[in-house]
Amino acid sequence: MGGLSAAACLLQEGHDVQIYEQAPQLGEIGAGIQLSANAMHVLNHIGLGDEISAISVRPGAYVFRLFDTAEIIQTFSLADEHLKMHKAPYNQIHRADFHELLVDRVRELDADCIHLNKHAVGFDESADGVTLSFEDGTSASGDLLIGADGVKSVIRDQICGPVQAVYTGDAAWRVTVPTKDLPPNFIEEVMSVWMGPGRHAVCYYIRGGEILNFVGAVETGDEPDESWTAKFPWESFKSDFEGWNEKVQTIIDMVDRDACYRWSMFKRPRLDFWSSNRATILGDAAHATIPYLAQGAAMAIEDGAVLMRALAQVDDLAEALKLYERNRIDRTARVVETSDANRELFHLNSVQEIRDAFANRNEGEDRNAWLYSYNPLTVELT
Ligand SMILES: Cc1cc2nc3c(=O)[nH]c(=O)nc-3n(C[C@H](O)[C@H](O)[C@H](O)COP(=O)(O)OP(=O)(O)OC[C@H]3O[C@@H](n4cnc5c(N)ncnc54)[C@H](O)[C@@H]3O)c2cc1C
Repeated sequence: MGGLSAAACLLQEGHDVQIYEQAPQLGEIGAGIQLSANAMHVLNHIGLGDEISAISVRPGAYVFRLFDTAEIIQTFSLADEHLKMHKAPYNQIHRADFHELLVDRVRELDADCIHLNKHAVGFDESADGVTLSFEDGTSASGDLLIGADGVKSVIRDQICGPVQAVYTGDAAWRVTVPTKDLPPNFIEEVMSVWMGPGRHAVCYYIRGGEILNFVGAVETGDEPDESWTAKFPWESFKSDFEGWNEKVQTIIDMVDRDACYRWSMFKRPRLDFWSSNRATILGDAAHATIPYLAQGAAMAIEDGAVLMRALAQVDDLAEALKLYERNRIDRTARVVETSDANRELFHLNSVQEIRDAFANRNEGEDRNAWLYSYNPLTVELT
């Protein structure tokens, strides 16, 4: 998503862009994604705002609930208030739908720029250009290489040296349920975070309300692979949320029992730089985060826009990459740190601790002040 969005930004500016993707075909997993105003500014800029909004759900509010009684501990408005405050909407969309829109937009800008089955293994750069090598023995050359190759980025490892992935101790179940299979008026169209000891869950509607998306993050001892497509037994999912509210039980009971995916979450250290003279990285490659603030893709999308602007602002390529990196490191690090802090906040051991923690904070005010209010198209680059 980060690579496609950056490509659309750069193609629109008149750059010649070629995209090399390792997968034999394009697609995304069957889960939801939230796109707040800070990301939507960029998606509006590449002409996708209306199409995204047409197939998204715009939640009325962000709601923090207790895991067992569903009591609301704190809430803040999204929908009209988010739009009014930040001049772009808060959308919840199916990943596959979003990815398809991005691919279509990129192909509209250049029908032949996406190359599949191209697994990058490394690059060579000189004063004149940069050459990317692929596993199949072929290569491609250009002025600039942008590694948008995710958490296990080979481009990052070459620029920054190998980084150690450390297991967070958490794994995220992700499932979807067709709304028609749920009782009528099952849950309001809001973004719900259910908080309980050692775990939390997130649920919201996608695809115009046709599907309920559920992510259940649990502290677990085992450390399986960092894979998005690892399936685990439904029984284990069910027992992870034993004692939780009846709505959560209904969701778990209604899922396709052969499609319970569980993703183990790893952390990577903060990078102090991530560019060479002719190569840089963006998105999860540069600043992978646990998804406890729902901002990983948003950060990748912001990166592409800031990179586009840095390239327009400074003629010297190496200086432009420094400008891009300098303007992204602190913001993305703050997102990673806040996501980590949410792990503590959402997993507190007792209801009293949850009440006390929320008594001293105003999540909406805080996020509106720095997170959602950032506009990568207008923020001053220094
Ligand atoms: C449960 C969960 C919920 C989330 N919810 C949200 C949310 O609501 N909002 C949000 O903003 N973010 C969310 N995120 C985070 C978000 O999904 C990621 O941050 C985002 O996908 C990162 O995008 P990316 O483009 O950097 O990397 P990726 O999406 O990982 O894309 C990397 C691409 O590079 C390709 N690639 C990798 N290596 C190579 C290679 N060597 N050669 C060629 N191609 C290669 C891959 O095949 C892939 O297509 C969530 C994550 C999880 C796990």
